Amino acid sequence: MALQDAWSEALTALKEQASEASFEGWVKSAFPLRMQGSTAVIGANSGFAKHWIEKKHADAIRQLLSQSLGFEIKLKVEIVERKEPLLLDEKLPVKPNPQTNLSDESIFQPLNPKYSFDNFVVGPTNRLAHACAAAVADEPSRTYNPLFLYGGAGLGKTHLMHAVGLNAVQANPDFRVVYVSGEQFTYHYVTSLREHRTAEVRRRYRSVDLWLVDDIQFLTGKERTEEEFFHTFNAIYETGKQIVLTSDRPPRDLELDSRLRSRFECGMLADISPPDLETRMAILQSKARTGCVALSDEVILYIARLITSNIRQLEGALIKLHAYASLMDAEVTPSLAEKVLGEYYTDNAPPVIDVAKIVGEVSDRFGIDPSEIKGKCRGKEIVASRQLAMYLARTLTETSLPAIGKAFGGKDHSTVLHACRKIEERLGRDRVFAAQVEEISRRLQHER
Ligand code: ADP
Ligand code: MG
Repeated sequence: MALQDAWSEALTALKEQASEASFEGWVKSAFPLRMQGSTAVIGANSGFAKHWIEKKHADAIRQLLSQSLGFEIKLKVEIVERKEPLLLDEKLPVKPNPQTNLSDESIFQPLNPKYSFDNFVVGPTNRLAHACAAAVADEPSRTYNPLFLYGGAGLGKTHLMHAVGLNAVQANPDFRVVYVSGEQFTYHYVTSLREHRTAEVRRRYRSVDLWLVDDIQFLTGKERTEEEFFHTFNAIYETGKQIVLTSDRPPRDLELDSRLRSRFECGMLADISPPDLETRMAILQSKARTGCVALSDEVILYIARLITSNIRQLEGALIKLHAYASLMDAEVTPSLAEKVLGEYYTDNAPPVIDVAKIVGEVSDRFGIDPSEIKGKCRGKEIVASRQLAMYLARTLTETSLPAIGKAFGGKDHSTVLHACRKIEERLGRDRVFAAQVEEISRRLQHER
């Protein structure tokens, strides 16, 4: 067995063993590189991931790989820079269980109770999709049939689809909901052909009240599966049962039989596009709350600005940051978030400005030691530098007045306000000073 296959097997087993955070954050981002004699070389995409895998999972990985490969291996983890999303986007390779019993209910995936309407944050870019899903969930087969949700990866299509199913079962436990991905549908069909059991599998599919088909783009280019899908679709639709579909693109861009495309187009189409900043922040807040992770507004804002187009990555960033902070016993600040996440999302990463950086810049510019700027010393030049640093903290960061006071030797908020007024007044009359301040703030805003 090749290393790649052994790795896929090991991942599936590890997913059961490792905690979710650890798995999502570290193991899943690793990838097999090569065999070197009897050593399996695994790539990790950061020093920290390597450290974590070696420390926590090396034994389990070694055992699992040895088992799959059929001989004892050694394990080596190398850092390989991959500028891909740090985590999670792609699913585990689906390797159908060879024992799958086609006549058994368990061929269908269960619904994930976490993907409920309650846990779904609504914003301008998913409002329509949410409203349609909610309407279908309330009254299946009455409103929009079929409902076709489409949009890019990690934007909540699967989540909404499960929510519809969960709601329907909750309202009526006898309601038969079948959730299947395009990929699984293909697999079921191909297996049933091989085992000469198409009739049986068809019956399973067709006796449903609500049919949820996820990632239908997977059917494109598979002629016979597509044909089977078409017949299944018609059989379910014609008995008046509800169908919900998702895809990464609208029907017109799917290379499917035109009959099938026009069936989709006759239903309700709703797209989901990447969420705006406020929605991203609300999602982070909600995920942090459910995961019992305490995050300041500044950190939430930092992550929401950094990761703009995929909610799964937003979640992944939270998990990664949390894992890092708890492992290192560090407080989660914007600087820490920048350190842990910034390298992965360099295109978007806004520079973090915090008190420590401001003090550093002011210290460089005026040759005063940072500890004096943050301390209590009353020397004239030191006080002037401290006031400037407070002013910059007030104007360039979201830090509150009391927090700024605290960072500068435990002053109260009125001292900070006084400092800001002094600086503003000096900026108005001293052009050289104004130019210096402008330069400092420019450097803070552009440096990375
Ligand atoms: P898709 O199927 O579009 O690729 P998913 O439904 O799998 O995306 O969503 C990816 C992750 O993001 C899931 O964990 C999901 O719970 C979460 N998610 C997506 N949209 C939202 C939302 N609006 N509110 C809360 N969580 C969301
Ligand atoms: Mg999905």
